[in-house]
Amino acid sequence: MTMAPKPVLFVAACALVDADGRVLIAQRPEGKALAGLWEFPGGKVEPGETPEETVIRELQEELGIETKTACLAPLTFASHSYEAFHLLMPLFVCRRFWGTPQPREGQGLKWVRPRDMRDYPMPPADAPLIPFLIDLL
Ligand code: C5P
Repeated sequence: MTMAPKPVLFVAACALVDADGRVLIAQRPEGKALAGLWEFPGGKVEPGETPEETVIRELQEELGIETKTACLAPLTFASHSYEAFHLLMPLFVCRRFWGTPQPREGQGLKWVRPRDMRDYPMPPADAPLIPFLIDLL
């Protein structure tokens, strides 16, 4: 029996880092898949976008902050099979941005030390990224 390949969902995410080495996580709002879980801000890579462009757009839309490609460093990526799709999600680190993150979409926001992130339930794709941030910061 041949199996249809699982569709690949291409999402790009970002660990925003503040001057104290804390990372911003956002709580997925009610009504969305995985509501209540804490994730790295980001979203789907739209046709014609690079993942860096996606991160810049999503940070603007979701948090009202500005950054640029030169301020984004790739750290690692998530590769996780959900039931309906396989998620591939590069995680960028950004220490330089303009503005103060605001919850533009009603989401909870928290600045958290990577070693404390286990206290915040995350989607199964995001949680394995925490050790990379602990090593980095
Ligand atoms: O954010 P959005 O709902 O567009 O993301 C699509 C899917 O990608 C989510 O339903 C979730 O399964 C997955 N995702 C994730 N971790 C993220 C962002 C998205 O697992 N940080």
